[in-house]
Amino acid sequence: MEKTSGIGSLKGIGAKTEQLFHNIGVYTIGDILLYYPKNYDQMPPITPLAEIPALLKSAGDDENLSLPRVKAVPEAKDRSVTVAIAARIDKTPFVRAARNMQVTSVALQEQNVKADLVWFRMPYLKNTLKTGAWFVFLGKIAPKGKSFHMEQPQIFTPEKYQSMQNCLWPCYALTAGLGKNKISQTVRQVLDGLDLSVDYLPEEIRQKHGLAEYNYAMENIHFPESAYALEQARKRLIFDEFFQFILSAGMQKEQMEEVVNDFDFLPLEREGLWTEQVMDSLPYKLTEAQKRTLQEIRKDLRGRKVMQRLVQGDVGSGKTIVAFLSMLDAAQSGYQSALMAPTEVLAMQHYQNFTELCERYDLHIPLILLTGSLTAKEKRRAYERMQLYPNAMVVGTHALIQDRAMYDNLALVVTDEQHRFGVKQRESLFQKGSQPHVLVMSATPIPRTLAIILYGDLDISVIDEVPAKRLPVKSCVVGKAARNTSYEFLKKEIAKGHQAYVICPLVEESEGLKAENVTDYAEKLKQELSAQIVVECMHGKMKSGRKNLIMEQFARNEIQVLVSTTVIEVGVNVPNATVMMIEDAQRFGLAQLHQLRGRVGRGQAQSYCIMINTTDSDKAKKRLEILNQSNDGFFIAAEDLKLRGPGDFFGIRQSGLFEFKLGDIYQNADLLKLASEEAHMILEEDRKLEAEEHQKIREQIGYYLNCQSEIVNL
Ligand code: ADP
Ligand code: MG
Repeated sequence: MEKTSGIGSLKGIGAKTEQLFHNIGVYTIGDILLYYPKNYDQMPPITPLAEIPALLKSAGDDENLSLPRVKAVPEAKDRSVTVAIAARIDKTPFVRAARNMQVTSVALQEQNVKADLVWFRMPYLKNTLKTGAWFVFLGKIAPKGKSFHMEQPQIFTPEKYQSMQNCLWPCYALTAGLGKNKISQTVRQVLDGLDLSVDYLPEEIRQKHGLAEYNYAMENIHFPESAYALEQARKRLIFDEFFQFILSAGMQKEQMEEVVNDFDFLPLEREGLWTEQVMDSLPYKLTEAQKRTLQEIRKDLRGRKVMQRLVQGDVGSGKTIVAFLSMLDAAQSGYQSALMAPTEVLAMQHYQNFTELCERYDLHIPLILLTGSLTAKEKRRAYERMQLYPNAMVVGTHALIQDRAMYDNLALVVTDEQHRFGVKQRESLFQKGSQPHVLVMSATPIPRTLAIILYGDLDISVIDEVPAKRLPVKSCVVGKAARNTSYEFLKKEIAKGHQAYVICPLVEESEGLKAENVTDYAEKLKQELSAQIVVECMHGKMKSGRKNLIMEQFARNEIQVLVSTTVIEVGVNVPNATVMMIEDAQRFGLAQLHQLRGRVGRGQAQSYCIMINTTDSDKAKKRLEILNQSNDGFFIAAEDLKLRGPGDFFGIRQSGLFEFKLGDIYQNADLLKLASEEAHMILEEDRKLEAEEHQKIREQIGYYLNCQSEIVNL
């Protein structure tokens, strides 16, 4: 068995199942190892039959989100609950024939509580379930008349069950047709078949930081033998994620530092530079921070080495115009430039924005849109134009870096919302032209110490100022009871000509999850609001064309209320929207909520952010209050960390930050620092990992870069 073989080469996986695995992003045997469980279940504690009625009653109230789940778990649709009942067999099991199959049943009774257990097509159980013996029955139990009913329970001896109770059972993110058992069986097969005993991490580093071995970590992240083992597995794998990320970034830096800048940009002193002309005629004045950043960039473009710069600026600080003005600089100097956005919606918005700017200032610059949803013909046309115009500006998604996208004369590459891209994407862009200048833009509110670690390969410019005259967004955290008042408020804002976003955590109704979904919510809102108000929904499962259309209509105010998942979290700019209402706000990370809030407050009018906390939990309330106190991303991230403390690893992740599957740069900041120190020590010794003792690391990094997933799709 090889890590790089296709998942279809495994036993028991036919073409259909293979396709299902592809749908969840698992292509190779190695991929499934990295398909970590979302969560873990524990075997439910043994419950005496007499206590079942009380248990069923309380199960419905269980709103506890912090996992692992140790309580009986209520199923969404019926009232059944998974339980383990210990009971003695008092009567011989009864086998009867029903519709061409044999049904075995056992009647249990304890005090006055009765239960019937049934199994289909397993008549031989009669020999196992001997009278007088004790067993534990695990299955879903549901009330039926005056008694209870359980179908196909699993049977254990009490000793066996007790020995299994320490284990945690993986819960994977599922897809229709691909169940929990299929995924865990496949993982099991891979863990048994692959030889994971060779650890790429030097023994010395493992010992120094008390990190588990690789094979132990892999086994226990999927099938933890105890909570402690899981913690150890996570620690090791999070360290690995950070270590590999920093090493690959560091190696990239090495490569880039050798590249001399042989582009020939027009001198800054020259008269009639377009960048200056547009800057002077904008309807607003650039902030000092924007000006400073732009100067730093333009100096780099004319420097001795190619630029490697990060522009960090909070949401709304005006990064787009800085990118445009830099690209303008390239265009006038006769070079191509490219802007890469993480979503189609955002790419489209940038393209339209640039088109308007070019028209308004009478700039004759060929603009080319390049996204995944273009038809083959449109794509071909785009490629042709890229060959034709040596000073084109190309705007797009990761389609920009696909093989056939051939640039002719690329001098500058800008990536927007960089945290959404992996190191891999950055690398492939560098390779497009003859090593273009690279500018990455990010709104990720990370403290400087972490930024230096994560972006160690880049120079940093900070836009630490938001345009004046803008009113801070007014925020409030309310309970479910305030929903109607919120709708009234929404109506008032719309009556003033403004627009609103409503964010829900889910795309559609989901079994076992009590959270609002955009599909049903949009319908509900249509009823609540008057018929003249156009409500639409949008989410990541929609086709790109449809998403773009909805965004365009929203931008033109043909839609007043947009009910959406967090697809709109990054970058979307509709200044006329003044209300951001977030359902189940407690389910989101604070950094993410801050990004969402950043979608409003972009115009002249006062904007509002209404966060609905649907729990009674004090902790959730306290967390959300942090957002109330501040509009500053850095402050929010720091407070969030303080409140949660490290080790809260089943809490809400600051999702969307970087490409880490397990690691969270805030929660695991300590591991991040350790990994960074070790990675740099190695890089210092051996800049290109050429030494023989680093061969295993070098191979691992190669593999790591190869499996970087494309783009986070919400
Ligand atoms: P972000 O940094 O979040 O990407 P954008 O670039 O989308 O922010 O800018 C947000 C809004 O602010 C846009 O509508 C843009 O036109 C406007 N803007 C940018 N710079 C300034 C400025 N100096 N003064 C006023 N408005 C500005
Ligand atoms: Mg932006």
